[in-house]
Amino acid sequence: MIGYAEALEILLREAPAPQVQRTAPAVGQVLAEAVASPEALPPFDNSAMDGFALRVGPDGASAGAEFDVRGAQAAGDAAAVAGQGAWEIMTGARVPDGLDAVIPVEQVAVLARGADGRPRRIRLNADLPMGQHIRCAGEDVAAGALLLDRGVCLEAAQRMLLSAVGVAEVAAVRPPQLALINTGRELVDDPGQSLASGEIRNSNGPYLAQKIIDAGALLVRRATVGDDADAFRAALRQSLDAGARLLLSTGAVSMGRHDFVPDALRDLGATIHFHKVRIRPGKPLLFATLPDGQLFFGLPGNPVSSAVGMRFFVEPVLRRMLGLPDERPLRLPLAEPYRKRHPLRFHLKASVSVAANGRVLARILPGQESFRIAPMARSNAWIVLGEDIGDLDAGALVDVHGLSHWRGPQLTGN
Ligand code: AMP
Ligand code: MG
Repeated sequence: MIGYAEALEILLREAPAPQVQRTAPAVGQVLAEAVASPEALPPFDNSAMDGFALRVGPDGASAGAEFDVRGAQAAGDAAAVAGQGAWEIMTGARVPDGLDAVIPVEQVAVLARGADGRPRRIRLNADLPMGQHIRCAGEDVAAGALLLDRGVCLEAAQRMLLSAVGVAEVAAVRPPQLALINTGRELVDDPGQSLASGEIRNSNGPYLAQKIIDAGALLVRRATVGDDADAFRAALRQSLDAGARLLLSTGAVSMGRHDFVPDALRDLGATIHFHKVRIRPGKPLLFATLPDGQLFFGLPGNPVSSAVGMRFFVEPVLRRMLGLPDERPLRLPLAEPYRKRHPLRFHLKASVSVAANGRVLARILPGQESFRIAPMARSNAWIVLGEDIGDLDAGALVDVHGLSHWRGPQLTGN
């Protein structure tokens, strides 16, 4: 039986390279190429305040100085050429050419107004240095500068930045296409159907379908089949026809009489790279490649085993396919001691919490059995303890992984 490190090496070796598509930017996409800014941001010098724009020169202007008001400029007004004197200006308005500082309306006295009520003459109540309250063209992003690097996942902030500089198209990684096949004659999909004797509800299906989407992939086909190799093969064929590059199955991968997945794969000419890994839960996990190169993950049926298979076997492959760097766990202190009795790599339902003193602690939740779903719904992280780790004292540092792989701005550094 191989260990996790060896299994991961095989998985990453077989992971397909990212595929690139040119597309309108959308949240969830990972950039396949860096984006240079087509425009300067801000696109023109503009006022950061409602007030008055002036030409003050390098020496600035002093409190007490008086100016006639020669014009007004609001957000959206086109370029204006300023002569002498002040211009009334609104936040976001283009600074009239020739003016170089803005004084907020709160810092002037209006000495005279026109018939229309507009200020005609003002006095400064504060000194005004050159450049004050002017947002310069390109101050945020220069035209042509690197805007977003490759490997960046677009979320709201990145979408905002792309919108700000008019990027209509990006080179994004094509989301990996996955299919999911849940096996088990005991499974019931319809929540409105009452359970017959011996039946259970399919909980892995909705869980994994959501995790696939959360991971940045596309679920192109989902099926539930009984313990029936023919039905399984048919579902596999339909998944491939739907364009799946990765296939996930749950159940029927252990040593029981109905565990037909390994044989069905061999019949199809698949190469089984490993079957069983020194982990808990999820030991019977199988990984194969199909004759046309698609990747097959046979996840065990127990709910937590299938979750571990998704998080620690499928997601690292998805990261590679998305062009994201490999993950690095957090190291956090354990809140309580833990007796680890088996030399396997453990994946434990965990909670990370912030104590009143601000210290972050990781806790191994009670109820680690692989059939127990309720503790998973209370967890907010996974604690991973390597094969060689034995008993741990409170305060020992342990590896902590998020519930899903992190696609936001990269956390890894030196
Ligand atoms: P198996 O790996 O097929 O031997 O299944 C192991 C255990 O997981 C059995 O108790 C199954 O009933 C249960 N199980 C299998 N598939 C699912 C599923 N999709 N949802 C919930 N439990 C499942
Ligand atoms: Mg089964």
